[in-house]
Amino acid sequence: MKQDNETTTSTPQDLAKAYEFKSVEQKWYRVWEEQKKFKATLDEDKPSFCIVIPPPNVTGVLHVGHALNNTLQDILVRFRRMQGMNTLWLPGTDHAGIATQNVVERQLAQDGTSRHEIGRKEFIERVWKWREESGGQIINQLKRLGASCDWDRERFTMDKGLSRAVREVFARLYDEGLIYKGDYIINWCPRCHTALADLEVEHEPTDGKLYNIRYPFSSGNGYLVVATTRPETMLGDTAVAVHPDDERFNNLAEKSVILPILNIKIPIVFDSYVEREFGTGALKVTPAHDVNDFEIGRRHDLPSRKVIDDNGCMNDEAGEAYLGLDRFECRKRIVEDLKELGLLEGVEDYQHGVGHCYRCHTVVEPYLSKQWFVKVKPLAEKAISAVKNGEIRIHPKSWETTYYDRLYPC
Ligand SMILES: [Zn+2]
Repeated sequence: MKQDNETTTSTPQDLAKAYEFKSVEQKWYRVWEEQKKFKATLDEDKPSFCIVIPPPNVTGVLHVGHALNNTLQDILVRFRRMQGMNTLWLPGTDHAGIATQNVVERQLAQDGTSRHEIGRKEFIERVWKWREESGGQIINQLKRLGASCDWDRERFTMDKGLSRAVREVFARLYDEGLIYKGDYIINWCPRCHTALADLEVEHEPTDGKLYNIRYPFSSGNGYLVVATTRPETMLGDTAVAVHPDDERFNNLAEKSVILPILNIKIPIVFDSYVEREFGTGALKVTPAHDVNDFEIGRRHDLPSRKVIDDNGCMNDEAGEAYLGLDRFECRKRIVEDLKELGLLEGVEDYQHGVGHCYRCHTVVEPYLSKQWFVKVKPLAEKAISAVKNGEIRIHPKSWETTYYDRLYPC
């Protein structure tokens, strides 16, 4: 085949039939870089145009989606540059916190060690080393794509300047009362030791069990039966709720029950959140380990008792017998103990959605925790008016609807 010879010839007489990136791209990119063709300068008389790159995460390398969005940015930037504007495409990479930590932890696991074993100092060194490798590769990929970024201004989201900016913004928002601390139920990953956003929790249909448990009335005979898929959380129950219009409970002589195992008295509260059709219509209320129970707890001024620690193990509030047990081991033990006490009414197979950590697939624990919150309303109002008064334009215009839909509920 002669084709090889043909395609590598570059004289005008027999110009290659196909575009030869190998002999063109890297050669000319080097020239552009050496001559600082992408360096932004400021001429006060000219209009300015700037794009801050959405910084790629240093968790890995660029994929075809990055190739697309960076090409689009490059087209816009080159277009404005050729129009003679002050043009800056500011490049950088994102530390991606926990996601990067996970990548490094997987590498450590392959080496048969862990972040706890090597200690904080060495772990941080490993993370920085990874960031050097991965960040470097990302920048090279961008260069191979021909991205016309101003490389002298490359930033990393954890570099000193940006870290200082983060602290400054945080302090300002705090001073303005826009950031505050409060108790709330979060999605906790006991392995990553981090809170997850709702979007970061993957709900998977799981074959579980529904345990029906008897809670004896505090005096006299009889009991209420509550149903739960997580019996270990009963140790943190601070009430049982029933629907106010549920006739079965209209004439309850007793207003409290005894929480089995811990043998403490907890009240029966009436709340219309309870689904009458579910189970027996009585709902155990664990304000510290369930978001809906947390709301019921608030409405009825119930205490919250946290019985699971940040590692997913039972703490001393759970009682001495279970202290230190993993939550799933505790589940087994509780079921055994309830059986022995004659308080397990029955167990049914039950398919339900169980939340998993999107990073490490550990079962997420709903967990009462002090967290930082941002008061979004005043910020959303400004963002809405910026588009309404034309300060920001959204292309295509039809996406304005989606933009407002996201901001109005705030
Ligand atoms: Zn996780």
